[in-house]
Amino acid sequence: MRASMFNVRVPLDGGDSGGDVFLMNTFTDAQLIVSRDVADLMDRIREDHVPQTDEEREALATLTEHGFIVRDREGERQKLEQYFRNIRHGHDQLRVTVLTTLQCNFACDYCFQGDHGDYNKFAAKMTLDTAARVVEWTRERFDTLRPETFVLTLFGGEPLLNLPVAYYLAEQLWKVSVDRGVRMHVNVITNGLLLTPEVVDRLAPYGLNAVKVTLDGDHDTHNRMRPLRGGQGTFDKIIENVRRVAGKCRISIGGNFDETSVDSYPALLDFLREQDFADQLARVAFKPVIREPRPEQPKGIIPLTAVSTSGKPLNGTCMTSAGGGTSICDQCNFLDEKMSFLREETKKRGFSTVDGVHMGPCEIHREHAHTIGPDGALYACPGFTGDPKLSTGHIDGRKEDWRAHAASRFEALAAWQECNDCAFIPVCAGGCSVAAHTELGNMNRPNCHKSSFEAGVVSLARDAARRETSTVN
Ligand code: SF4
Ligand code: SF4
Repeated sequence: MRASMFNVRVPLDGGDSGGDVFLMNTFTDAQLIVSRDVADLMDRIREDHVPQTDEEREALATLTEHGFIVRDREGERQKLEQYFRNIRHGHDQLRVTVLTTLQCNFACDYCFQGDHGDYNKFAAKMTLDTAARVVEWTRERFDTLRPETFVLTLFGGEPLLNLPVAYYLAEQLWKVSVDRGVRMHVNVITNGLLLTPEVVDRLAPYGLNAVKVTLDGDHDTHNRMRPLRGGQGTFDKIIENVRRVAGKCRISIGGNFDETSVDSYPALLDFLREQDFADQLARVAFKPVIREPRPEQPKGIIPLTAVSTSGKPLNGTCMTSAGGGTSICDQCNFLDEKMSFLREETKKRGFSTVDGVHMGPCEIHREHAHTIGPDGALYACPGFTGDPKLSTGHIDGRKEDWRAHAASRFEALAAWQECNDCAFIPVCAGGCSVAAHTELGNMNRPNCHKSSFEAGVVSLARDAARRETSTVN
């Protein structure tokens, strides 16, 4: 027997904790607070270990039951590989993200898509014909996979700029789901400007699950970062829209920060706390803005949109809000220290947020999670829609070698295999492949933000210690 490679520990020194240690196993997700003696016992464990006392035998039984002690490293590695195979091929859930349009009504400071120049004039928009083919394609997937759950995420660009397609997809796919006894959920990722009670009422009967709205800081900061083309602010309108729909559906607030805006987030959080809809916000979580690379740029930032060799944008999705619902995409490109700061500030104000540890594996590791571009091209995740060469297929079933080749590259993704014995592999899987592709030129290399996971565990440990103290008292 030996200690699991997926154990992480945080000493709960000082105060009431009396030298206890918080233990977490990222593979089994077990969390325990144990005495330092028990934590030390794990370090002494060898294959031929014989417990010396009843107390030690009992401690070892508990640690083994929760996966902190395993038979051997080889067996544990085999289980890890099986875990990733199960994730890749699992078909209980079919996830489809549809980019209804690449047009956007914002002219964000950090984005060269959207309402700048004549971008919107040429940006792709899904037609109702293509939407009908998306429904047919999904129907065929249902019949092949027989999933229990179907998650449709409407995304863009700004998805609400193409309401006919958004409504059509929700309505038609709902019918297909009901016919086959599949549970359907709809998520919408929107900038919030066109989010009205009418939109929510129209989507609600078709399994509307959550709407994610982006706020990039407090009133003034957001208006600077996310204005309309004429420079008009959008903050007040978005807040008003959220107020009108809160209570009708789950709303989560996402935000993008950079070095000029991060300090405004506590003021935004205070503002949100004071609103009458504060308790109806399902989640509040922030991540760094994704920018075009510049030589002086700090490590950890990838382009908003992939660019071709000529430096022109390739029509990709809006990476500032990639990911739907509880999607892993909130892990992309974070600046570790700032993320921890914002997470703690968010929790302090009583909002639910990401814990910084349970971040993955993201949907790129799932064979049955797809992103569909406005033209019907299939992608492995929203982050790769900027590069059509990496399309993995097409909803019309056309067979093309180059798409098959791209699909096989995604099928083989296993960046974690270069992560040696990192304890975070089960919840990280080697990091964001889009960031690795853009920053390192190889999607199958780890893109490591280990210090952020470590900070997340410290935060979980503090929460567990607080809970234990309040239970004891
Ligand atoms: S690879 Fe990156 S952008 Fe794509 S789903 Fe995973 S975390 Fe999100
Ligand atoms: S990318 Fe870093 S944190 Fe993630 S599994 Fe690999 S070594 Fe661990």
